[in-house]
Formats: sequence, structure tokens, C-alpha cells
Amino acid sequence: MTGKVKAKKETPKMECRRCGVCCTRHQAFVTPEDIDRIVNYLGITLKEWDELYEDRRWRYSEYRLIRHVNGACAFLRFDGGLAACLIHEVKPACCARWEAGPDKKECREGMGKGSQ
Ligand code: SF4
Ligand code: SF4
Repeated sequence: MTGKVKAKKETPKMECRRCGVCCTRHQAFVTPEDIDRIVNYLGITLKEWDELYEDRRWRYSEYRLIRHVNGACAFLRFDGGLAACLIHEVKPACCARWEAGPDKKECREGMGKGSQ
């Protein structure tokens, strides 16, 4: 085979500084599997999930959105100025896939602010 093999562009990585900006800028979407996992972890019913954590304005697909409370995800807390996810062990797949990086404007904003 001839031709050059293009080097895959590496996504720049950085350690998460736990500024919490990503959890305030975005509403996490949850799949039915995410919801099952989270309600089991929290020991709540689906009705309680719906009443406490789900954004009821969004009902357009099987995906749901986690509610924001006071401008941030309902599961975001700050511990000693550092962001912490109350459901870290079972967080939605979209949150688990999110990686900190200097290419992300949320992380750059967090670096600018320092920890809250
Ligand atoms: S579920 Fe956790 S990681 Fe995801 S947006 Fe909410 S606080 Fe952040
Ligand atoms: S914005 Fe970036 S640095 Fe801040 S908590 Fe989210 S992933 Fe971590």
C-alpha cells in the first residue's frame, strides 16, 4: 500500500480542576438506563425522580434532562470550593464521557476563575 498515513490528531488533555462550570453550562441528558441506575443508587422511585430531578419541560424523546436548580445541575455540590457530583458513581453516560481539556471553553472559563 502506498501513501501517507495521517497521524491522528490528539485531543489535548488536562486534569479536571473541579470548577463545576460544565455542570452549570449544560443540562445532562439521561437515557432510560441512566435513570434506572440513578434511582437504584438513590433508593428513590421513578415518581420521586420525576418530581425532584427531571426537567419536565423536555418530553420530546426517550432521553430526559436533569433539572437545573439555582443555575446548576441538581446533583452539583461544592465541597471546600471544589465541584462534586452527588451521583458520581452512577452519573449519566454523557457526563462520564465528558473529559476536561484546554480545548473546552468551559474548562478555560474555570481556569480563569479558579475554583469557586
Ligand atoms: S450529573 Fe453530576 S457530572 Fe453530570 S451535570 Fe450533574 S453534577 Fe455534573
Ligand atoms: S469545566 Fe472542565 S475543569 Fe471544570 S469541572 Fe468541568 S471538566 Fe472539570
